[in-house]
Amino acid sequence: MTTYPTLRMRRNRKHAGVRRLVRETRLTADSLIYPVFICPGSGVEKPVGSMPGVSQWSADRLAAEAPRIRDEGVPALILFGIPEDKDAIGSASWREDGVVQRGLEAMKKAAPELVAMVDLCFCEYTDHGHCGVLAGEDLDNDATRENLGKQAVSLARAGADVIAPSGMVDGMVSGIRGALDTTGFPELPILSYAAKYASGFYGPFRDAAESTPAFGDRRSHQMDPGNADEALREVALDLEEGADMVMVKPAMPYLDIIRRVKDRFGVPTAAYQVSGEYSMLLAAAANGWLDEERVMMESLVAIRRAGADMVLTYFARRAAKLLKKGWTL
Ligand SMILES: [Zn+2]
Repeated sequence: MTTYPTLRMRRNRKHAGVRRLVRETRLTADSLIYPVFICPGSGVEKPVGSMPGVSQWSADRLAAEAPRIRDEGVPALILFGIPEDKDAIGSASWREDGVVQRGLEAMKKAAPELVAMVDLCFCEYTDHGHCGVLAGEDLDNDATRENLGKQAVSLARAGADVIAPSGMVDGMVSGIRGALDTTGFPELPILSYAAKYASGFYGPFRDAAESTPAFGDRRSHQMDPGNADEALREVALDLEEGADMVMVKPAMPYLDIIRRVKDRFGVPTAAYQVSGEYSMLLAAAANGWLDEERVMMESLVAIRRAGADMVLTYFARRAAKLLKKGWTL
């Protein structure tokens, strides 16, 4: 093998133009998905304390922002709902006039070109904050699966373009597929949160979505951070059940999982740069410890380089604006 001094790796790094030519991973706005929290009311924009720059919006605020987001170059949103009332099973999630259903209608009217993804779970909708129906203090898997079908059909009717179940309930993808297929939505794709870890990085999201469990935690259905082979099993099962795209969540602490999923299955793979990943970068930047713009973009490049085709990120709008101005590493 040719080596130093005949070979000098620095030659390709000297000229900014050459660096551009040999760059392996390029960031474009095409891969960005912007998460949005929809709340009841009108004219509401309620900032989330632990996530600077992120607010809950009422449906009309979403309608006002949607065309701007489209013009900034972000192709897709994913909607989360904060309902006006909660109950033991989360029935507000499949109401025809539910908060996300109203948001979808408003958004599709204002910017039909934007892809409307919807998160499917119950933790924002149950009074106990768990991800579905309880049996004692445990999640009742099969009753929850049944209700996920109802939620999916209701959101499909309201105009969702992609259904994204996040509850890590066994059989959720086949349950939702069956419900959609028998109600006239056989062509609606499912993005499964296939490998979702029980992570401490979700902290600020619970603040944003008002979904902290009243007792216990989610370790009985979300994955153990120590496991990687299990993630591949989860992805294999969800694909078998009919998932069209799969997700790894969180992103930065799980880049190895993204890479293994992409290498093994070669299917459209999303990664969720979660609230904690976002807030910790901003907090460090606010202290002057990190260059905010630089670490934001570097983190997104890293997630893409690991193999993610799509990145769900609260940085989506800012990153898209920078990319439009010709930003480069
Ligand atoms: Zn949940």
